[in-house]
Amino acid sequence: MSLLKFSHGNAKLANRLIFNLPAGYACPAAGVCKTLVDRHTGKVNDNLALPHVGVADYRCFAAMAETRPNVRDARWYNWDLLKDAMYASYEGAESMADLIISSLMPHKEDLVRIHESGDFWTELYLMAWITVARKEPNRTFYAYTKSLNMWLNLASEIPNNLFLTASIGGLLDSLIAGRESIFIRRAYVVYTEEEAAAQGLEIDHDDSHCFGDKPFALLVHGSQRAGSAASKAISLRKKAGGFTGYNINKRKAKANVKI
Ligand code: SF4
Repeated sequence: MSLLKFSHGNAKLANRLIFNLPAGYACPAAGVCKTLVDRHTGKVNDNLALPHVGVADYRCFAAMAETRPNVRDARWYNWDLLKDAMYASYEGAESMADLIISSLMPHKEDLVRIHESGDFWTELYLMAWITVARKEPNRTFYAYTKSLNMWLNLASEIPNNLFLTASIGGLLDSLIAGRESIFIRRAYVVYTEEEAAAQGLEIDHDDSHCFGDKPFALLVHGSQRAGSAASKAISLRKKAGGFTGYNINKRKAKANVKI
């Protein structure tokens, strides 16, 4: 049986499994962030002229990794396998859940980030992860999502070991107003630390806020379009010696510091 591919942490996040799908393609509610990397050529298309929704304009943090063929192939492989499972049975969510559980089995990590890239692309697929979380009570699962309609429809089904955070900047942000008690955790992308402070938001650097009970901010980072406001904000931070991105060597160095 072919199994899905997980990665084991990255420059920002240690000690967890990360599951990815192709950025943008598997993100039905992506808004300002929408970035597509061509499956075959690796060419980046992030000039998609999507409607702006009144929040920071930035390029998907995870998409640029797909310019590397091995990353691109792994993400498309995962999506193809899931779709095969979904269409192979009338019980599409169950078949996908079975595939995910079998694929998790060889891994010991008890923390799983669903989607550093990609999102819940159908409600059946979100239901599959809900089923996985129920059947794997000793693991903790979490995801950022812009598929707020799916979250809303399945809110009563979500078990305690699956933590969702609303990722602001999508096409469905308007669903949040009046439903803050459901969308408790909301992540806002900001250009500067001052902007986060002005909004009363703490900045998250390690996904720890994904398990909290309040909105938070993420500082724009990654490779941004030349000349964009996001790119200029990163340059200014760099000049000021501030945060510019996540680096695996810095993380290792930090982990080795003895207190
Ligand atoms: S929804 Fe997330 S993964 Fe998809 S394009 Fe936007 S930032 Fe990237």
